[in-house]
Amino acid sequence: MRIALLIVSIINLLGICSTNAQDRLYSNSFSLAEVSLLDGPFKHARDLNIQTLLQYDVDRLLNPYRKEAGLPEKAASYPNWDGLDGHVGGHYLSAMAMNAETGNAECKKRLEYMLSELKACQEAHALRHPAWGIGYLGGVPKSAEIWSTFKNGDFKALRAAWVPWYNVHKLYSGLRDAWLYTGHETAKTLFLNFCDWGIAITANLSEAQMQSMLDIEHGGMNEVFADAYQMTGDEKYLKAAKRFSHQALLDPMSMGKDNLDNKHANTQVPKAVGFQRIAELSKEEKYAKAGHFFWETVTSKRSLALGGNSRREFFPSVAAGHDFVHDVEGPESCNSYNMLKLTEELFRANPSARYMDYYERTLYNHILSTQHPEHGGYVYFTPARPRHYRVYSAPNQGMWCCVGSGMENHGKYNQLIYTQQKDSLFLNLFIASALNWRAKGIVLQQQTNFPEEEQTKLTITEGRARFTLMIRYPSWVQAGALQIRVNNKPIAYTTFSFWLCCS
Ligand SMILES: [Zn+2]
Repeated sequence: MRIALLIVSIINLLGICSTNAQDRLYSNSFSLAEVSLLDGPFKHARDLNIQTLLQYDVDRLLNPYRKEAGLPEKAASYPNWDGLDGHVGGHYLSAMAMNAETGNAECKKRLEYMLSELKACQEAHALRHPAWGIGYLGGVPKSAEIWSTFKNGDFKALRAAWVPWYNVHKLYSGLRDAWLYTGHETAKTLFLNFCDWGIAITANLSEAQMQSMLDIEHGGMNEVFADAYQMTGDEKYLKAAKRFSHQALLDPMSMGKDNLDNKHANTQVPKAVGFQRIAELSKEEKYAKAGHFFWETVTSKRSLALGGNSRREFFPSVAAGHDFVHDVEGPESCNSYNMLKLTEELFRANPSARYMDYYERTLYNHILSTQHPEHGGYVYFTPARPRHYRVYSAPNQGMWCCVGSGMENHGKYNQLIYTQQKDSLFLNLFIASALNWRAKGIVLQQQTNFPEEEQTKLTITEGRARFTLMIRYPSWVQAGALQIRVNNKPIAYTTFSFWLCCS
């Protein structure tokens, strides 16, 4: 395949790295508000997703939190997956934050409302449950019974419930995202209070008890504590991130041993996301090796061509690999959502084009396809079984995990198209978009119909600036076949580990 790039008016020399909204946590990111999607499949998916999101009733999503906080109920909780009340509300908060940042006024209004309601819930817990609930903010059914006993090392109620830590992790992430994307200080306060609760409720547990607790699916609890560490610089959060790291995965992965056969896949991926976040912030080699090896083994040995993994939610053994062509439950959408998060982290640590090759493959072939193109419903499983079909959710009815992660997937397509590092602008993805690079005072427009056409055109439509442009040399383009033209004249370029540098 070939791709031709037409670059207009790029001036290339040293520049200074800017600071942006996502710089709050992710050093190489542009703000979602700085990157606009132009007409194409991703903009269509983002716009349709907003329409879908706005069909959900916020008071119904919030009701589990009010109920557990002992506040009067304003609306009935949603049915389905009712042992996991509150998990979708956390994803929904993330989705509102993304779309508020890119300018949707209704999403911004809903974000503000959710944060004010959640603040009331956190305050109510502190008053009503001072023995265990200061800082708590969860919709987990029977919260009082679970956490009051858990605090003293009695896990009977915790184990009888459905993955409470997985559930609360979704709201941790939602609050972090509300702050990350919009800078909302209430979100930050609620998030850090909730982190303090997580530390207090586990303070009396031994290391062995912690590891026993981590046998149960718990999302990326280690990741959110690492985020809190970055937000505050307070070592207690880094310590908590390590305490919430499951050694049954950390140890073998850090030694390059793949022990994933027959393990629940989406229980493992978020743990690795947390390992890599800890590595990014603490520079500890063990965590870095674990995050890196997990990605390598899953993408090279345990993923299908579309980038997704797992069947019936589990990683099969090699001997059971043929299950994919027979099973009605193929790769799960949440797994790819989390694998892309891990890929973003590894790319920040080492901006190698192969990470973005995987990102592109999975974004186009799995994530984008998990949305119904007309009614916007979300997909749980993408079976590889010949002549099989997929099932889509309907608003206000399905409350699966992949509905929650799906709410987020289509709101951040503009997050990784461009990144920056030191003096360089990285063009990672060939998606029609416009970058308003505020720090440089330029607007760069990318016009493409990829993959319907094998070229993209970059135009500086406003301003002048000096910077180095790094264009991903896709693995699907033969060596030497990629052409670059500046103002319609072919130019020579330099390759750095599969990146092109325009000079
Ligand atoms: Zn899922």
